[in-house]
Amino acid sequence: MGYFCPMAKSADHFKDVISHAKEYGFVVPSSEIYDGLSAVYDYGQNGAELKNNIRSYWWKAMVQLNENIVGIDAAILMHPTTWKASGHVDAFNDPLIDNKDSKKRYRADVLIEDYVAKIEGKIEKEIQKAKKRFGEAFDQEQYVSTNPRVVEYRKKAETIIKRMARSLEKEDLADVKTLIEELEIACPISGSRNWTDVKQFNLMFGTKLGASAESATDLYLRPETAQGIFVNFLNVQKSGRLKIPFGIAQVGKAFRNEIVARQFIFRMREFEQMEMQFFIRPGSQKEWYEQWKEKRMKWHLSLGLGEENYRFHDHEKLAHYADAAADIEFKFPFGFKELEGIHSRTDFDLASHEEYSGKKLQYFDPELNESYVPYVVETSIGLDRMFLAIFSQALQEEELENGSKRTVLRVPSILAPVKAAILPLVKKDGLPEIGHKLVDELKCHFNLQYDEKDAVGRRYRRQDAIGTPYCITIDHQTLEDQTVTIRERDSMDQRRISLSEVADVLKKEVDMAGWLARL
Ligand code: ATP
Repeated sequence: MGYFCPMAKSADHFKDVISHAKEYGFVVPSSEIYDGLSAVYDYGQNGAELKNNIRSYWWKAMVQLNENIVGIDAAILMHPTTWKASGHVDAFNDPLIDNKDSKKRYRADVLIEDYVAKIEGKIEKEIQKAKKRFGEAFDQEQYVSTNPRVVEYRKKAETIIKRMARSLEKEDLADVKTLIEELEIACPISGSRNWTDVKQFNLMFGTKLGASAESATDLYLRPETAQGIFVNFLNVQKSGRLKIPFGIAQVGKAFRNEIVARQFIFRMREFEQMEMQFFIRPGSQKEWYEQWKEKRMKWHLSLGLGEENYRFHDHEKLAHYADAAADIEFKFPFGFKELEGIHSRTDFDLASHEEYSGKKLQYFDPELNESYVPYVVETSIGLDRMFLAIFSQALQEEELENGSKRTVLRVPSILAPVKAAILPLVKKDGLPEIGHKLVDELKCHFNLQYDEKDAVGRRYRRQDAIGTPYCITIDHQTLEDQTVTIRERDSMDQRRISLSEVADVLKKEVDMAGWLARL
């Protein structure tokens, strides 16, 4: 076995992530031959597989494991009144601000949040210093609540966030600008503090339905998948004879004309959401909200990317539809950011669709013997963001015993694009034939790659780089005793097993069922 030592992620880790994603067929800018389209991306051959597998792990955890959750697939285009009822026409805005010198546009709330993140960074530094100083005896709770410097930083951060939330809620955009000025926030590009006023900007993409300009109807590309579920609530409940509490899940594209579209696939203009709306009795929302927070965190942790990379963040500023909301944040290469939202949406959406459509959207509860508009707790995660979380965490550089380096993508084996590579040691002596036969035997169960080019060491490296958990090498001994070498990606351990065992070994290690059973 080769000894290896994981190397600290470089300061340029995010750049490495983006270039690795391109070089190995995961993610590339859309229409790249025309210089790309801002914040729109295509998934290549390995990216599409990884994305499919993440989608499938989510779908199975939601729909297959829960008797009372079903999945649907609603259209992207919806009746335009949907977006009036949902509040998106009036309220799906981001506050934007321009820097007059660099002509760059920013989200005012993000500028302020970034400022606060710097304060949080200072707190973290103080904690780390104190940890070193006090050693074993260090009590973090006590330290952060008593150390005067930390207490002051925390108070400052809280005051800023509270004031921003209040001003945004009251639509007091002038105060948001004043706050930016008071904090002396400068444009990261020009360094100047020459700001325009803060304005609201609606994030929905418009499009038209119909042939002629006069008769065409103005539509929107959906900015979230949730509304496709709300408008179908009764269809699904009745056709599925579902009893509250029950959930409806969906995966699909959503579109947002984001003001600040950077950070690769973290913030895209076209992206995919995995959402689940859970319909419950009014009054029980607190309990279900807590349950779903816990369940979703468990799903994330099951992937083994490290507990320290997740945290909850409760919302100060609630969206127009919510009575409680929290994010599951992940430690991306650029810091902790929202990965998933869990929202207690009350009866806002269904009640509003009742009002706009004139149709009753109520449920008759046989136990209570009464009808009501159900309350909803939703879980909403971006598939692309989940992809980035996994990909950026999994991509690692290691130094091997012999001093050489290897790049390895330690994605959870169930999500790996290719489950096993079949590698005949040489291109002769009947070894390729055995390889092809093995591929034929396994290909109905697993996505495989057959590779006979180059030295086997280089082939291993290529598979490490795309995260293939197993390499199966066929050599001359195979001809004699029907055994092959199986090499594990993470440990680089190699052992011989018989050809007839390969399918079972793979099934045990890369089958989603085992992972789902632990949820
Ligand atoms: P943010 O504050 O980052 O703009 P949001 O709070 O508007 O996100 P939601 O409306 O709650 O996000 O959407 C649910 C999930 O959809 C998010 O947690 C995120 O994973 C994903 N998502 C939202 N916007 C984008 C985007 N532009 N690109 C990729 N994923 C997105």
